[in-house]
Amino acid sequence: MTHRIAIENSDIAFDCASGQSVLDAALQAGIELPYSCRKGVCGSCAGGIALGEVSGVNAGTFRNDTCSADQVLYCLCAPTSDLVLKPLSWKRLDPSARKKFSAKVYSNELVAPDISQLRLRLPAGQRAKFQAGQYLQVLLDDGSQRSYSMANPPQESDGVTLHIRHVPGGRFSAQVAQLTPGDTLQIELPFGHVALREENSRPIVFVAGGTGFAPVKSILDDMLKRRVKRPMTLIWGAREASGLYLRAAVERWQKQWPDFRFIGALSDVAAEAIGDAYAGRVDQALLAHCPDLSGHVVYCCGSPPMAAAVRSAAIDSGLAANDFHADVFVPGPAAVQP
Ligand SMILES: Cc1cc2nc3c(=O)[nH]c(=O)nc-3n(C[C@H](O)[C@H](O)[C@H](O)COP(=O)(O)OP(=O)(O)OC[C@H]3O[C@@H](n4cnc5c(N)ncnc54)[C@H](O)[C@@H]3O)c2cc1C
Repeated sequence: MTHRIAIENSDIAFDCASGQSVLDAALQAGIELPYSCRKGVCGSCAGGIALGEVSGVNAGTFRNDTCSADQVLYCLCAPTSDLVLKPLSWKRLDPSARKKFSAKVYSNELVAPDISQLRLRLPAGQRAKFQAGQYLQVLLDDGSQRSYSMANPPQESDGVTLHIRHVPGGRFSAQVAQLTPGDTLQIELPFGHVALREENSRPIVFVAGGTGFAPVKSILDDMLKRRVKRPMTLIWGAREASGLYLRAAVERWQKQWPDFRFIGALSDVAAEAIGDAYAGRVDQALLAHCPDLSGHVVYCCGSPPMAAAVRSAAIDSGLAANDFHADVFVPGPAAVQP
């Protein structure tokens, strides 16, 4: 049965088909609500229901510990009556913004023992339009997709740069090291909600795990190009020093912004070899180096458990829950986009 969904204090209303999630119905109707993983992990789509009732899609759960008492996860709930939503934010999507390209491998460099930096070029004259922090999907020949964040800033729009960790046995990522210049990949972009608001000038702490550095790099390079000035800290974690693979980018930011603070966190390195890095996980480094996060914004990118640990540490340090933004690298094929 179809239900009607409206957004509080707006003229927006759309239909939601039986069994469809509130988030999918909104995206299908061209309305973007905050979201990232679309699998109930990251909590980015948590929002309120001002009127009406919901149940879990496929009778599953529709809350997690990122939800406050009056919130549900729009990606996991379906209406059982007409609804009025009270989302944290919303905007109209531009239907012509997302495009498919046949992109050619321009270069493929091993930047760490298990990480490829893959540069793709778009066909001559075509431009990739995206915002810093968004991701693309690689379309595989079995019909599935894999998501990868752009690591280049949007101003460099004749191609995209990806940082891809080789997951042992992974259908796509384990093959990436074999790609050579001239090989073609089918890609579609852009995807993803842009969590960071431009007008915000409060101190920001970026927390990246492994290749979660890719969207952070895009955001910081974009800020650099736009000469944004605000207090910034980057905490970047890996098991070993080689996992902090693009130190030159960090040095560039430090040179450009003398107050830019960088903390490398290494979780699997003997104390005598740790150097100036923090010995431990990124959530522990956050607690140690940023004990008071009131008035800050935290942007976190990495695996689901890492994002959950960072969120909990940030809130323990006084961060307001609404000021935590996460892009979560949920493993496996991407959820189908409506
Ligand atoms: C929004 C978004 C952005 C992403 N951006 C990036 C990025 O910039 N760089 C990047 O390297 N990855 C990124 N990912 C992860 C990426 O989309 C793939 O999931 C990953 O590369 C594995 O794909 P695969 O085909 O090799 O493995 P699959 O064949 O899909 O999986 C093989 C097996 O490995 C497991 N697995 C898959 N990924 C992981 C993992 N990361 N850790 C542990 N086990 C895993 C699977 O559960 C499965 O059992 C992102 C994911 C999302 C949702």
